[in-house]
Amino acid sequence: MKFLITGGAGFIGSALVRFLINETEHSVVNFDKLTYAGNLDTLNSVSDSERYSFIQGDICDDALVRKTLAAEAPDKIMHLAAESHVDRSVDSPGEFIQTNIVGTFTLLNAALDYWEREKPAEFLFHHVSTDEVYGSLSMEAPSFTETTPYDPNSPYSASKASSDHLVRAWGETYGLPYVITNCSNNYGYFQFPEKLVPLMILNAMNEQPLPVYGDGMNVRDWLYVDDHARALYLVATSGKEGETYNIGGNSEKTNIDVVKTICSLLETYNPPKKDQRYEDLITYVTDRPGHDFRYSVDTSKIQSELGWEPEESFESGIAKTIEWYLENQSWCESVQEGQTERARLGLSRNKSG
Ligand code: NAD
Repeated sequence: MKFLITGGAGFIGSALVRFLINETEHSVVNFDKLTYAGNLDTLNSVSDSERYSFIQGDICDDALVRKTLAAEAPDKIMHLAAESHVDRSVDSPGEFIQTNIVGTFTLLNAALDYWEREKPAEFLFHHVSTDEVYGSLSMEAPSFTETTPYDPNSPYSASKASSDHLVRAWGETYGLPYVITNCSNNYGYFQFPEKLVPLMILNAMNEQPLPVYGDGMNVRDWLYVDDHARALYLVATSGKEGETYNIGGNSEKTNIDVVKTICSLLETYNPPKKDQRYEDLITYVTDRPGHDFRYSVDTSKIQSELGWEPEESFESGIAKTIEWYLENQSWCESVQEGQTERARLGLSRNKSG
């Protein structure tokens, strides 16, 4: 089969493309705009494959999306392209509305016309989304299931919730075969160093402060990115049309625990130069506005229906991740080149959008 992956040069998209090329016989067309978060070096290990091709493009570009679908005739569309960083959505929500909502709408319309015209037998539009659409939980609340009502709080999660609703509507109203997955926080190699895990690793290595939001007690569920890629492939090929699947690592941690685990592993892998401990670099900073307290994902549906469960524990996955960042500092420097230094993302709303 041929898979069209949007956002295939991003963190999760590139893990999925590598999985498809390395672990399956399928072909991949990677459609990516290459924003600050997209980087083709993530695909160096597979880009020579004759089953891989790349198109630089914007999912909001209706003509190019239609031309690509007509020329490539994919069997599956796996839609990962998005603006993905919550802090950036606080500063500049307009880009999130444009890509995550208008872009998904553009892609859906083009996909519907393509599917009605060509009717590929195995066709599926797979929308890759987040557990953040379900909102915030207390410590005592049960985990999110696929029937938990949507209750998004950030511009990012609201834009992803909107796009989930559009996908469902295109399925229910126009009959487009679709599936949606809602996943918890991913971590692993090739993650742009603005997200919690790589930011903390790189700051610690450079003996810079480790900024922890609020009191550090917010809870996230953590999933190693390769486990997510495997789950996405299973859902795209064996999931039931019109269904939602939650994906998570069964690994809830407070943010401060994540940071302390990174610090203690780094003491072994990269002992600090000065007579200090990495933990001494932890600095509590002003909380993120509207910071959701806890996310927790019930993964029993994907486990029982598709037999998926994560292979990495947080402990094994984070150790691999730290080793990778220690060995790939040049990649981190190259993707950060040209980024204007900013004291702190997520505190200053850009009033023009
Ligand atoms: P990312 O920010 O690392 O990558 C996004 C990719 O999309 C980049 O390659 C970028 O160039 C591309 N892109 C952005 N706008 C585009 C546009 N208009 N047209 C075409 N391409 C565009 O994101 P990620 O962390 O890999 O997340 C991928 C998907 O998974 C997103 O939809 C995100 O909402 C979802 N998700 C992420 C996480 C997580 O923890 N990172 C968790 C659950 C779900």
